[in-house]
Amino acid sequence: MRSVDGVVGPSVAVRPSVPVTLILSAMAHVGNRVMVRSAALQERAEKYLAGGVDSPVRAFRAVGGHPPFVVSANGATLVDADGNKYVDMFGSWGPMLFGHAFPPAVAAICDAAARSASFGASTPAEADLADLVQRCFPSMQKMRFVSSGTEACMSAIRLARGFTGRPFVIKFEGCYHGHSDGLLVKAGSGVATFGIPGSAGVPDETAMHTLALPYNDLGAVEAAFEAHPELVACVIVEPVVGNAGTIAPAAGYLAGLRALTKKHGALLIFDEVMTGFRLSAGGAQELYGMHVGDAAPDLTTLGKIVGGGLPVGVFGGRAEVMDKLAPLGPVYQAGTLSGNPLAMAAGIATLGHLLVHRKEIYAGLEETTAAIADGVAKIAAEHGIALTTNRVGSMFTWFFTPTAVTDFASASASDTAAFARFHRGMLERGVWLPPSQYEAAFVSTAHGEREVEMVFAAAREAMKDVVR
Ligand code: PMP
Repeated sequence: MRSVDGVVGPSVAVRPSVPVTLILSAMAHVGNRVMVRSAALQERAEKYLAGGVDSPVRAFRAVGGHPPFVVSANGATLVDADGNKYVDMFGSWGPMLFGHAFPPAVAAICDAAARSASFGASTPAEADLADLVQRCFPSMQKMRFVSSGTEACMSAIRLARGFTGRPFVIKFEGCYHGHSDGLLVKAGSGVATFGIPGSAGVPDETAMHTLALPYNDLGAVEAAFEAHPELVACVIVEPVVGNAGTIAPAAGYLAGLRALTKKHGALLIFDEVMTGFRLSAGGAQELYGMHVGDAAPDLTTLGKIVGGGLPVGVFGGRAEVMDKLAPLGPVYQAGTLSGNPLAMAAGIATLGHLLVHRKEIYAGLEETTAAIADGVAKIAAEHGIALTTNRVGSMFTWFFTPTAVTDFASASASDTAAFARFHRGMLERGVWLPPSQYEAAFVSTAHGEREVEMVFAAAREAMKDVVR
């Protein structure tokens, strides 16, 4: 075993003050894997960062144990600070559609960086990327780039309110639209993982304008519109839910939302931060035939893949609505780093590749993901474990419940302790699943037969831990 001093990857040295007892503690191992450096890095991170993380789900609270610290990744493989390798099944929570260090994106980022990381002035790259986005999402007649999915959704909501002059927002239980105040009501994965209904610090006056309804229930939406006549600005929905684990829309559900919002004069916002470019080049709206004409949503929010791993969000839609934004209209929205040249470059490289190869990309993703999702479900059945496997394209979830999962309530029936044992068992054997029952797993084009076999081999052993 090497000494802890200077243990970490590239340029970061762990301080000699890291207690030696820590290194020898049980948490320095996960199964047969030595996690000495990750353990030391965790200890150090907790000194500086609240909870040792910059985003709560990274802390592994839902599954126990300490998270490995990642120092590099390539394709479908993550490498931790101790040199352990993992098949990556969460893809940076969605962005890495083509795997890590996708060469065209790396080259584009380096090239852009050499011309300066930021100007705070308009660049040609912004319209270049917008053009690619629009080719995929024709319903986004105009758009604006921001730096995260949170910002995209928050801005879309403000715009919907500004456009309609109405205060209420309908969202769905288990759907997450970022961490802005009004959207942190019954918001799925992160908050569900911690067992809290929303968040402290959100005033009642803000939360009261968010109507959280069960997903896949059009009757509840109709009733909410009737209870608040001419007061609902918009309905925002994850067209395929990812943030309660993967949940597909029932047949006719999305079209039903479109019809109800039209009838009641509210805007329909598809939050495709997760599904955009993942389920098809045109996201869920293309997959379900709602990308053009009257069926299309008024506004769409994007993030993750559109930035090729760099921080980008987008919101856009009908020109008439978008033109209410400053400087043309009265709705204010801005960002120092919006349209950042590095992020635009990564996005252009990613979407450029996607548009040229879309056919084989989605066919390949479908095949690999089906093999993994169904193969592990079969292994579970061989161990007498009832799983409900929900999958749409390359996003999926193994719910540890025998009953169908169609909304947040049915997702919540899952045995989260069993999931935690499974997660741990897989991690020990080199497969890193998203660390919560209420998160979708993602497959990339870099996942191939080798990864499929590695997942199966790990699952055959990990399922024994679940029944134990
Ligand atoms: N909407 C959806 C559907 C998401 O999945 C997420 C992030 N998981 C967000 C919005 C927020 O995006 P970000 O984390 O980039 O702020």
